[in-house]
Amino acid sequence: MNKEFFTTPLTSLCATLCDFAGVKPPEFAAPSCEELKERLTAQSGVSSVDRILMYNPDAVADYIYDKYYDKFAPCEAVAPIRQRFITVYPPKTPVCFASMYTGALPEKHGITKYEKPVVTIDTIFDAFIRAGKKPCIVSVKNQSMDKIFKGRDMAYFSETYDDEVVERALELIEKDEHDLLCVYNQRYDDSMHRSHPNSKRSQHALDCYASSFIKLGEKVNTCWEKHDTLIGFAPDHGVHRMIIGLGNHGSNIPKDMNISHLYGIIPKKI
Ligand SMILES: [Zn+2]
Repeated sequence: MNKEFFTTPLTSLCATLCDFAGVKPPEFAAPSCEELKERLTAQSGVSSVDRILMYNPDAVADYIYDKYYDKFAPCEAVAPIRQRFITVYPPKTPVCFASMYTGALPEKHGITKYEKPVVTIDTIFDAFIRAGKKPCIVSVKNQSMDKIFKGRDMAYFSETYDDEVVERALELIEKDEHDLLCVYNQRYDDSMHRSHPNSKRSQHALDCYASSFIKLGEKVNTCWEKHDTLIGFAPDHGVHRMIIGLGNHGSNIPKDMNISHLYGIIPKKI
C-alpha cells in the first residue's frame, strides 16, 4: 500500500473535464491536470470530446483498487488511464463531490463536513449550461450527488438504489440527450460502514461497481457512436478500518485521501 499522500489535487479534475469539452471552467476551478490531459490525448489521439460520462462509485480507496485489482482490471479496457489524485479534507462524500465538480476547495464551496446543502458557487453543471450543453445527474435519492447540485436548469434522476441508477443511466445513454452524464453508486460505502472494507459483502459491492462501469462503457460504445466520449471511473474518497473493526473515512491519512480514477476516450465511429 502507498503510505505517502498523492500530490495531484482532485480539484484539478473539473477544469480538465471542461477543457476536453471545450467549456470554460467554473469560476473557482483549480488549474487543469496537464498530466491527465497529455496521457489521455496520447492514448486516444483525441483532444476534445462532445460527451462525458462520469461513473462515481463511492469510497474506492487507491489501496482497495490495488488489493482487488483483479476485479478492476477489466475496467481498464474501457478506461485505460489510471490517474492518482489526493482528495480534499475532510474526505467525506458531499465535501469531495462538491470539490470534484466545482474544482474548488471545501472552504470555497462551503461544504466542510458531512452535510448536504445545495452548492451555491459556480459548478461544472453551470459551466456546461452556459456553454449551451445539457448536463444530467443520476443518483440514489437523498444522497449527496442527488442533493448538492440541485437548482440548476438541468436533468436530475433520483433512483431507489445502485441498480436502478445504472438502469436509468443505460436508458439515458441510449436516448443520447445529455452532454455530461454523472452516475452515482454507493453500495461499497454502505457495506464497508456496516461491516469492513474487505468483508465478503464489501467485495461483492466492488464487483458490482466494476460490472456497472463496464456495462456503461459497452452502452457508450454501441449508442454514442456519433460522439467522442470521455469516460471516467471517479470515486470521491477512500476508506480505512477502525480499531473497532468497522470501515470508516474522514481522516487525514493516505488510506482515506488517496484515490485512483480511470479515464479513457471512446472515439466516434461514424
Ligand atoms: Zn463517499
